[in-house]
Amino acid sequence: MRDIETLIIGGGIAGLSLAARVAHRTDTLVLEAESAPGYHASGRSVAIAHFGLGERIVRTLTALSLSELAAVPEDDRARSAIVHPALHIGRSDQAEELEALEEVHRTFGCDYARISGEEARALFPALRIGPEHCHEAIVDHGALKLDADAMLQGHVRDLRAAGGDIVVNARVTAIARDEGRWVVETNAGPARAATIVNAAGAWADEIASMAGTRGIGIEPRRRTVISFDTPDEMNVSQWPFTKTVGAGFYILPEGSGRLLASPMDEVKSTPCDAAPEEIDIATIAERVQEATTLPVERIAHSWAGLRSFAPDELPVIGFAQDVPGFFWFAGQGGYGFQTSPALAEIGAALLFDGVWDERLTAAEIQPGLFRPERCQR
Ligand SMILES: Cc1cc2nc3c(=O)[nH]c(=O)nc-3n(C[C@H](O)[C@H](O)[C@H](O)COP(=O)(O)OP(=O)(O)OC[C@H]3O[C@@H](n4cnc5c(N)ncnc54)[C@H](O)[C@@H]3O)c2cc1C
Repeated sequence: MRDIETLIIGGGIAGLSLAARVAHRTDTLVLEAESAPGYHASGRSVAIAHFGLGERIVRTLTALSLSELAAVPEDDRARSAIVHPALHIGRSDQAEELEALEEVHRTFGCDYARISGEEARALFPALRIGPEHCHEAIVDHGALKLDADAMLQGHVRDLRAAGGDIVVNARVTAIARDEGRWVVETNAGPARAATIVNAAGAWADEIASMAGTRGIGIEPRRRTVISFDTPDEMNVSQWPFTKTVGAGFYILPEGSGRLLASPMDEVKSTPCDAAPEEIDIATIAERVQEATTLPVERIAHSWAGLRSFAPDELPVIGFAQDVPGFFWFAGQGGYGFQTSPALAEIGAALLFDGVWDERLTAAEIQPGLFRPERCQR
C-alpha cells in the first residue's frame, strides 16, 4: 500500500495543475479513474482564454493567469498558448451588453477595440451583418488559444520531475479514516494519505460523500461542440474565436480547414461520460447558418463535456471544516483552463497555509472567497 502525504483525486487540469505546483514540497500522488489524464471535461474543452464569460472574480482570475499561460517554456516542450483574437458580436439591441463587456476589457487593460459590423466581417468574412445579426463587436487582440493537451502533459512532466506521480485506471471506490490517516480504496489497489485533495470535477460531491463530508451541490452541465468542413476555397485558420454576447453560439477554427462551433448549451446532467444529443447538434447547425453564410453540411465529429459549477458559480477551494485533511479543489465551471495558474496558486497557498501573494490581495481576491462551507449542504 502506498503511504503518501498528499493524494489528489482527479487527473484533469484542476488536479494536475495543483499537483505540479505542490509536488516539490509534499509527497504527491494523483489518482485518475480513466486510462489517461484529461479524459473528461479537460480533454473536451475548446480551451480559449478570453474575458467574455464569468463575473468579476472569474475575470480577475483570468487576468491573473494570462502571463503564465502565455509564457514560453524554457525547455523543449510544446508551447501551450498562442495569441488568437476573440471577437464578441452583438445585435443592435445588445448595445448595453457590449458596453458592459467593453468596460471589462478596459478595466483589465486588454488590447481591444470596439468595431462596426463591417469591421467584424473583415475579420470573420462569413459573418452576416445588420441589426439582427452582427451590428457591432469588440475584438480582443490578446485572447489566447490554449493547447489543452500540452498543458496537461506539461503538468504531468513537472509533477514527475518533482518526485510525484500519477496513476491512471485508479478509480477511487471507498474512503475511510484509520489511525489519523485516510485510507483510499481504488481498483489499482489501496493508498494511505495524510491529506486528500478532491479534484474530481463532476464527481466532486461523490468523493465528498465517500469521505463523509457534506457536499457542495456541484452541478455538472453538458456543453456540445461540433466540427464541420468549410468550403474548399476558404482559409479559416486565422479567423478569430467569435462569440455572441449573451446566448447564441461560438465558433473558432480547429485546424485542418475545419471550424468548431457550440450552441453554448448548459444542460444539467448527472456525472457521466457525456455524449452529444441530436437536438443540440441541430441547434448549433441552425444558429451558425442563421448568423453566417457558412453551410453546415458535413459534421466531421461532435462531442460533449461537463462543466461543473458550485451554486454561486465560483470555484470551491479549501479544507472541509467537518472532517480533517479533506481539501476541496472543484467547481472550475467553464473557465478551468484560463484560470488554472491563479487557481493552482490559490490552492497551494490554502493547502499549506502559505503566503498569500500580494497580486491576489491587490486584485481583491481574499483567502476566504472560495471556502467550501459557503455552500456546503
Ligand atoms: C465543451 C467545453 C468547452 C470548454 N471551453 C473552455 C474554455 O474555452 N476555456 C476554459 O478555461 N475552460 C473551458 N471549459 C471548462 C474546462 O474544460 C473545465 O473547467 C476543466 O476542464 C475542469 O477541470 P477538472 O480537472 O475540474 O475536471 P475534469 O477534467 O473532469 O477532471 C476530473 C477528473 O476526475 C476523475 N475522477 C472522477 N471520479 C474519480 C474517482 N472516483 N477516482 C479517480 N478519479 C476520478 C475523472 O475521471 C476526471 O478525469 C470547457 C469545457 C467544455 C466541456
